[in-house]
Amino acid sequence: MYDALVVGYGPVGMALAGLLGQYGHRVAVCERYPGLYNLPRAATFDHEAMRTLQKLGCATRLLASVVPWTNYEWCNGAGEVLINQVFSARAASGWAENYAMYQPVLEDALDAAVRLLPNVTILPGWTATALRAQVGGVQLQIQNAKGWVRTLRAKYLIGCDGGNSFVRENCAVPSLDCGFREPWLVFDFRLKRPLDLPLARQICDPAQPAVTVSLGPEYRRWSFMMEPHESVEQATAPENVWWRVFRWATPEDMELVRAVSYTFQSRIAERWRVGNVLLAGDAAHQMPPFLGQGMCSGIRDAANLAWKLDLVLKELAGPALLDTYMLERDPSGGVQCELGFWQSVGGHFIQVGGDRPANAHTVWLRDRGGTYRTWFEQHSCRAVIVRPDFYVYAGLLDVSEVGQSLQRLWAALSDEGTVTESNPQGIQSIEIGMRVLAAVEKAGGPASLTSIAAAAGMAPSKAHRYLVSLGRAGFVTQSGYSGLYDLGNAARRLGVEAMRRMDEVNLAGDYLVRLRDKTGHTVNLTVWGDSGPTLVRWEHGSIPLPIAVRVGSSLPILASSAGRVFLAFLPIVVTQPVLQRQVNEGIAPPYVDEEVRRIASDIRSSGLAVTSQAVIPGLDALAAPVFDAQERLVLVVALLAPRLYANAVARRKASTALIECVSALSHELGYTKQAAI
Ligand SMILES: Cc1cc2nc3c(=O)[nH]c(=O)nc-3n(C[C@H](O)[C@H](O)[C@H](O)COP(=O)(O)OP(=O)(O)OC[C@H]3O[C@@H](n4cnc5c(N)ncnc54)[C@H](O)[C@@H]3O)c2cc1C
Repeated sequence: MYDALVVGYGPVGMALAGLLGQYGHRVAVCERYPGLYNLPRAATFDHEAMRTLQKLGCATRLLASVVPWTNYEWCNGAGEVLINQVFSARAASGWAENYAMYQPVLEDALDAAVRLLPNVTILPGWTATALRAQVGGVQLQIQNAKGWVRTLRAKYLIGCDGGNSFVRENCAVPSLDCGFREPWLVFDFRLKRPLDLPLARQICDPAQPAVTVSLGPEYRRWSFMMEPHESVEQATAPENVWWRVFRWATPEDMELVRAVSYTFQSRIAERWRVGNVLLAGDAAHQMPPFLGQGMCSGIRDAANLAWKLDLVLKELAGPALLDTYMLERDPSGGVQCELGFWQSVGGHFIQVGGDRPANAHTVWLRDRGGTYRTWFEQHSCRAVIVRPDFYVYAGLLDVSEVGQSLQRLWAALSDEGTVTESNPQGIQSIEIGMRVLAAVEKAGGPASLTSIAAAAGMAPSKAHRYLVSLGRAGFVTQSGYSGLYDLGNAARRLGVEAMRRMDEVNLAGDYLVRLRDKTGHTVNLTVWGDSGPTLVRWEHGSIPLPIAVRVGSSLPILASSAGRVFLAFLPIVVTQPVLQRQVNEGIAPPYVDEEVRRIASDIRSSGLAVTSQAVIPGLDALAAPVFDAQERLVLVVALLAPRLYANAVARRKASTALIECVSALSHELGYTKQAAI
């Protein structure tokens, strides 16, 4: 049983097999071709890819046959330069930002590095033909040209088998079309002598879009967008190839290596992990080559996946760590521990400059040329935590912060995370999904993917995956007509049920106690009953009051601050009969309509009712409304204190605390408007 099986020995399969081999795992990699492909596809690679190649031991060998890619010109049909994109000779990694290359040279270097690893078995000429899950891993059937069949078993299998991936198909993972599809001709030449041509030029000529790019010191490529009427046979016939490149070079300058046609596409696999099977490179995503990132992003997949698989295979992290792979690597689109754990997973400390440390666990680096010093200065930090795939996990202002940051990293690596009282255990993906659901809710109506993603603070492609899952569970629906998302039936049922179970008065109890503790004043809660404002809770404050009103009593609607709030926010057809009855029963004095309207209007604009010595002699009162999700007045909270009316500072403090209390309570009841303070 292997630890990992890799299907496909293209650049991504080679890089992944090499990295897993370096970590010490037993790896087998099968490739349908009997030898290396030996023809170029990728023309350039970036400094991040070079970091991984360096880790694999290929960098020095490669340097002799690649050319640093200094700039990328974008011209119009007349040859005028529209944009000259300049690349750094020394990117953050210390390598040149980009290199031009002849892909077989890169594959030779990678192959040589992988062949040095005794624990990696390369199986050229063996095509993967059947794949199925088995307990604790996967089983792969491979077949060679003679028809011989072999069965391989492994804990994990990674499909690095290119755009038409057998592994992806076998796992029934749809490959989503991102909407780009253009047929292009690709002509590669071996140079007979150096030519004075730009390193890379994109010719934005509507009559014939074209690209010419160096493939390192000995090769050059021209690419042309195909005309709709052209056939591949016609366009790739040598005379037609030369006819197209004649203005730049002739057979005396160079020899044609190959002329082919590719349909450049933009596609992404819907999932990159199905149980113990993962996808990487073109099998997971494809993009047009104009930015030179297809292979580079595949090598980044390999770097990301290799260290995670390593920790999972060594049982230093749970398999859920592999779910972070697509989340982090999705191109349309970050980890705690005791220091002992860090060292046990292979982490180490590197001190840059200063005196050589006495501590045997610390690697010491001399900062030749000040590369590190410059980087640290540019990023205003003193220490940095770097993951095995070179991503900077944390930049720290002080070395003393390292321990804490490593602890956070450990929690993210382990399935369990660090469970403390302040950081109770949770499932991160559910929390992220709930952010997306909250964004759908806050949109207030049908919303687009981009607006939901922006509100949830994530890339649209990531938000899309959560929306798909929320849709499957019925919490979100998507209109087949407009493509907009809205809350689904399950969300509606949940909301209605939550509302049904909600006991506003009980819920308000905690708020009342907090308001009393914060202000020291007596507070009460009133609901609208058959007899008008009815007191349902009373919490004594620290200042003794001359009187307490019994819970269940009705309050005078016009004289009490709570009553006035009902007057302001309930429909007049509800309040008027009660007010009239209170007048008739002598509870309230006769009133003037105009005066009642003015009081109600003042309260509606300030959000607060204030009365002085109206119900209880010597006491002033403030009252404010509590609304529910339907924007209905459901409760009134009042605060009572002696001489509140005369003392502006005390009144202001009490008003602020009261408004904060009713705002928070209303929010908990589903009210979304902002209360005025
Ligand atoms: C014209 C062109 C220009 C490009 N320019 C750039 C560039 O400048 N920079 C850049 O980064 N990228 C570029 N790319 C993209 C880049 O070439 C690809 O992204 C890269 O080759 C993908 O590597 P891979 O290992 O994932 O897949 P592949 O290179 O396709 O390798 C897949 C391997 O799997 C094998 N395989 C398939 N099926 C099976 C099976 N069933 N069993 C066993 N083996 C199997 C195949 O034989 C193949 O060897 C370019 C692509 C094209 C076409």
